[in-house]
Amino acid sequence: MAKQWTPQEQMLLRMTSEFTANEIAPLDLQIDHAGRYPDGLFEQVVATGFLSLMLPNEFGGAGFGPEVTAEVVRRVAEGNASMAATLEGHYKTVYQMLKYGTPALQAKYFPTAGQRIFGFGMTEPTGGSNPMSIRTTAVRQGSDWVLNGNKIMITNGGLAEVYCVLAKTGPQELSVFVVDQDMPGFAFGKRENFIGLRGTPVGEIFMNDVRVSDDYLLGQVGQGGEIGDSAHDDACILMGAVLTGIMDHALGLATSYAKERKAGSTPIGELGSIQRKLADIAMGRETTRLLYQNAAARHAAGQPYSEEATMAKAYGSRTAVAACDDALQVFGGYGYSRDYPLAHLIADARALEIAEGTVEKMRAAIAAEELAK
Ligand SMILES: Cc1cc2nc3c(=O)[nH]c(=O)nc-3n(C[C@H](O)[C@H](O)[C@H](O)COP(=O)(O)OP(=O)(O)OC[C@H]3O[C@@H](n4cnc5c(N)ncnc54)[C@H](O)[C@@H]3O)c2cc1C
Repeated sequence: MAKQWTPQEQMLLRMTSEFTANEIAPLDLQIDHAGRYPDGLFEQVVATGFLSLMLPNEFGGAGFGPEVTAEVVRRVAEGNASMAATLEGHYKTVYQMLKYGTPALQAKYFPTAGQRIFGFGMTEPTGGSNPMSIRTTAVRQGSDWVLNGNKIMITNGGLAEVYCVLAKTGPQELSVFVVDQDMPGFAFGKRENFIGLRGTPVGEIFMNDVRVSDDYLLGQVGQGGEIGDSAHDDACILMGAVLTGIMDHALGLATSYAKERKAGSTPIGELGSIQRKLADIAMGRETTRLLYQNAAARHAAGQPYSEEATMAKAYGSRTAVAACDDALQVFGGYGYSRDYPLAHLIADARALEIAEGTVEKMRAAIAAEELAK
């Protein structure tokens, strides 16, 4: 059953829809064409309070749960998927710092987590699918850790000021540390030139003898694999919400156009072939929504949610690519023009067959869960 929102949650969600409709959605095409957020937009997102939703009250947040953050992300994605992906990258990182961070780490970063953005770096040039293939190391020196290595394709890379990074603390041992842009030895690298989610900065960081104390270790030494999996699960719920928002966007465009556009004297929405596409988009959107909401509800209730979250992103990503392709077809030749949003919606959805684990890896994870039952 769908969650009943409290009055405070309803207020937040209404504000999110209004902000998206007034401030973000009108810039959707501009963001895609320019490959960046227009000056001032991100600052408005910060000022509106989107970055601190899930933080406890003591750190200036409102303590909203995973179902609420996912619903916020869905509503933002309906206006622009890039901004929703930026929020996703921030939320999943803050969740891990909430779950595994020392009190000293939380006291250092959380008071400003509502004003500056965070990112989670696992992928390296040697590969993203197999965490053991990373080369970043964290080596004990006295009471500190010294980090060396580089991370690529980090959502918010360059925009984010604080990063959780996966590092090897032994040949077969993974741990997660928090580093920030003000630390000596930290540097930004290039920004990816991706075909979709063009507004979201996705970039590279370098760590050259970055020195941190034990307070900057998330969880325990050797807990990196578990923390990476936890970040992945939280991200998959939020990505399911992004994909649902993308399909909401595509369906809204396709149904409006189908009512107006005529084939002879008949609106194309009366043609069975067009209706079939609209129905397929609606079914894909609804199924993905139910999958991510179920995973978020399980998370909120303290139940296992890894398989459900993985299903939401694995199913939703392929479904959203097909749904946006159907919507493009409803628009005919205009759909193929970059002056309309359909092309970038396909590319936006396509990113999520790769980011946060490829669909191949996700299918393998789902199959492993089923085989273990
Ligand atoms: C938009 C976007 C945002 C991203 N954001 C982040 C981020 O915030 N943080 C971060 O760390 N990374 C991020 N990434 C990187 C992403 O997580 C990796 O691209 C992804 O994990 C795949 O790694 P790879 O690109 O190295 O491909 P590879 O691991 O080299 O895989 C190549 C191909 O082989 C397949 N393959 C590899 N191993 C297996 C296996 N065991 N079983 C089956 N198939 C396999 C893959 O499915 C894929 O098709 C982002 C990527 C994108 C596109």
